[in-house]
Amino acid sequence: MSLIPTDILTRLKAIVGPAGYIEDPADMEPYCVSWRDGWRGDTPLVLRPASTQEVSEIVALCAKAGIPIVPQGGNTGLTGAGQPHAGGSEIVLSTNRMKAIREVDALNDTMTVEAGVVLTTIQDKAAELDRLFPLSLGAEGSCQIGGNLSTNAGGTQVLRYGNARNLVLGLEVVLPDGRIWNGLRGLRKDNTGFDLKQIFIGGEGTIGIITAAVLRLFPKPRESQTAFAAVTDPSAAVKLLGIMRDRLGEQVTSFELLQRNCLDYVLETLDGHEDPLSEIHPWYVLIEATGQGAPGSLRDPMEEALAEAIEAELVPDAVIAASGEQARKLWAIREELAEAQKLSGVGIKHDISVPLSRIGEFIERADAALNAAYPGIRHCSFGHVGDGNIHYNPLNPKDWDGKAFAAEREAVNRLVHDIVAEMNGSLSAEHGLGRLRREEAEHYKADVEMDMMRTLKRAFDPQNLMNPGKMLRL
Ligand SMILES: Cc1cc2nc3c(=O)[nH]c(=O)nc-3n(C[C@H](O)[C@H](O)[C@H](O)COP(=O)(O)OP(=O)(O)OC[C@H]3O[C@@H](n4cnc5c(N)ncnc54)[C@H](O)[C@@H]3O)c2cc1C
Repeated sequence: MSLIPTDILTRLKAIVGPAGYIEDPADMEPYCVSWRDGWRGDTPLVLRPASTQEVSEIVALCAKAGIPIVPQGGNTGLTGAGQPHAGGSEIVLSTNRMKAIREVDALNDTMTVEAGVVLTTIQDKAAELDRLFPLSLGAEGSCQIGGNLSTNAGGTQVLRYGNARNLVLGLEVVLPDGRIWNGLRGLRKDNTGFDLKQIFIGGEGTIGIITAAVLRLFPKPRESQTAFAAVTDPSAAVKLLGIMRDRLGEQVTSFELLQRNCLDYVLETLDGHEDPLSEIHPWYVLIEATGQGAPGSLRDPMEEALAEAIEAELVPDAVIAASGEQARKLWAIREELAEAQKLSGVGIKHDISVPLSRIGEFIERADAALNAAYPGIRHCSFGHVGDGNIHYNPLNPKDWDGKAFAAEREAVNRLVHDIVAEMNGSLSAEHGLGRLRREEAEHYKADVEMDMMRTLKRAFDPQNLMNPGKMLRL
């Protein structure tokens, strides 16, 4: 039986009409379960409003009736933030019917989209306009822009364009009392008080529901080169990045690190991949440079940078993709890593960042601490090393049962995050806190920082109805 009174459910359904809700348990299942890591909850009703007005009416009614709401986009988040809690006392509000591209202003280089537009749709629309929307990540075919902004998503081009926060000029938001804030301004300069949109970006749906956004567009690159290079160790990767940037400047768009184990997992568990280099090396980087020059114009500088790194004994071997198809294949290795890892064992995942200069030291110290505590642990570290962000995801030792290893999560986190904290790093560089890292944030953040976050939450959502228990506890 639902914990939400039947008359309230009836009124909520009336707001969205028959096409706008799901109440059959089997049909609601995909909205209650996470893509990975087994987050699962219950709800008596999934609402799928088709407009901002409907979102506003739902939220206003829930505020009056004291019903908690879990906003949800593509449900690809990795921290347990987008699923309801167990018990059935929360409704899920999915934006997957809010799919309109409301406006394109090519001269202003902006596109105004509703929250439920899937990321690849935005990328494709920008390309049609001969522009680039640079947010790019493994889940881009399913995640929605509302979810991307609410998690301040990063991805593979942060090095050049910044994360989601940097790609937005304006927002429309339904506040926890149901009021609509129309902040859809396409302005690059607006110094009229607090930059309110930034409070909602990365807010994990805890202080309002993003219903639309004005996104920044960029010139579409005319030229692109992709390289796959072996590096002697993570510190060499960071030095290689320095060489690349000396020669190519801001044109270095992506710089992704992966450990040999990660490549092995892809080769072992997924079809259609091959080892890009003839010999085995402990670490690799996938590099992309893009620019506005003539096709092929970045090849020489990229070759020269790699030659310099080979000379300096940072890079034992490297290949530059000879065609778009070869580049796509190299990227497929990186993009399918998460899936391969899932198939290869039970991982304890970390999404850390430290200053670039300390990446090598971090991996060395964390590996040593875990090797001592868990002999045979399988390391699988990869990530956006150009941003100082490593997905440090060790897997269970082969002779360990997966469940037993998963039970070590807190102890493993402590070992890893203590090192991160000593380096003044972050325990969540891009995925957010959700439920997965909420207690870790409480443990490591200063009281004054937690106080500011709670003050903000209480000011916007005094009843604690907007995605309660996610990101922070009151
Ligand atoms: C294979 C794979 C690769 C990934 N790679 C990356 C990566 O490189 N970089 C990265 O940053 N992330 C990555 N992610 C994580 C995930 O894709 C991103 O966090 C994404 O931005 C989430 O979007 P979504 O629409 O799926 O949001 P959801 O998972 O539905 O929701 C995420 C959070 O946002 C809230 N939310 C959703 N929509 C709204 C809204 N309209 N208003 C307010 N709150 C809302 C939810 O309540 C929840 O707290 C990856 C995930 C997968 C599965």
